Amino acid sequence: MKSCPKCNQNNVVKSGIINDKQRFLCKDCNYYFTVKKLGKQIDDYYVTKALQLYLEGLSFREIERIIGVSHVTISSWIKKYNITRPPHSDFHPVYKILKQNELIEYLSQENNIKNSGLIITEFADKYMLIKWERFKK
Ligand SMILES: [Zn+2]
Repeated sequence: MKSCPKCNQNNVVKSGIINDKQRFLCKDCNYYFTVKKLGKQIDDYYVTKALQLYLEGLSFREIERIIGVSHVTISSWIKKYNITRPPHSDFHPVYKILKQNELIEYLSQENNIKNSGLIITEFADKYMLIKWERFKK
């Protein structure tokens, strides 16, 4: 498999996508690196995440910022899977990318989770929290 360009060890794990490129983390020296464009090889995992976020009402640009896949690629997935989203009138999603300890801290404050829906999903080496809040009238 991949070896780390810095220390040449093979103790390397996938760690998200940046600019349509798979990012890796070397667990020996904590060095992050990417490899050349993945094109159609982007993990189904990220395709699913992108479609989920789109359904939740996020824009292509927002999804690009979160996942690291270009809005052009995301737009092509929406067409490919023929996704139409329902209108979002009462609730709007907000999202946060948190480390595990930040996530626990966030959840420990009742005001952060009261009167809202939550999904927590693993995201690279962190966690993504999507929360639905009612629009203020
Ligand atoms: Zn290394």
